[in-house]
Amino acid sequence: MTESLPVIDLNKLDTGQCKSWPFSQDVCVTCGMCASTCPVSGIDGFDPRKLIRLVSLGLEAQAVESRWPWICTMCGKCENVCPMEIRIPALVRNIRALRDRDAVPGHIHQGITAALETGNNLRLPKEDYEFIIEDVAEEVAEEPGFEGFTAPIDKKGANILCTIHNKLVNTHTEDLKHWWKIFHVAGEDWTNCSENWEGTSWGYFSGDDDAVKIMAGRIVEQMERLEVKTLLWPE
Ligand code: SF4
Ligand code: SF4
Repeated sequence: MTESLPVIDLNKLDTGQCKSWPFSQDVCVTCGMCASTCPVSGIDGFDPRKLIRLVSLGLEAQAVESRWPWICTMCGKCENVCPMEIRIPALVRNIRALRDRDAVPGHIHQGITAALETGNNLRLPKEDYEFIIEDVAEEVAEEPGFEGFTAPIDKKGANILCTIHNKLVNTHTEDLKHWWKIFHVAGEDWTNCSENWEGTSWGYFSGDDDAVKIMAGRIVEQMERLEVKTLLWPE
């Protein structure tokens, strides 16, 4: 369904409302380059120019209430082609950040809440996580050429620490095996961590910078605890 906004009386606009936003939104020349390259332009009436115009007219509340910022994939293609160097994905993210957290669409905010409370988006208990890692490692070890394979957890002083996307210990465990096998063949010294292993940081998508900082800080803590110098953050 196409989203539409009520008719706006231009004489009643508070055009200074978003003036301090630092994304160069006021210099848009509506050339349409962004819309031409945007992979989701047209979905539910979305067009990056519409969001730019809402903000440049000071219609912050309408931008925040709109579904359009949540249709954007944050791919950045628009920014690459914009002749006015308007920072469209950053502007979209800023709009998302202004949404009440309870009104964030889908499961994104619930996932962040779970990650902040438990260390992962799934609320997966530590013993279940470790069981899954060990179980999948045993499957790898049964394959020719991978005899004796193990997936280390909390190996102190390893060369690489890997975070894990939660779906890899949920519905996509087969995908763990690909990079584990590469490590094995390459003779890499690596480890998983037993806590705060979550490799996604959904605060990035919802505009929750505080959550992003906490999640990143936890990964750093794991590196320090395990004395690992290199991080592989596949997400
Ligand atoms: S490409 Fe830039 S200047 Fe052109 S319409 Fe889009 S935001 Fe405006
Ligand atoms: S960042 Fe968003 S608005 Fe820009 S091209 Fe990608 S999906 Fe479209």
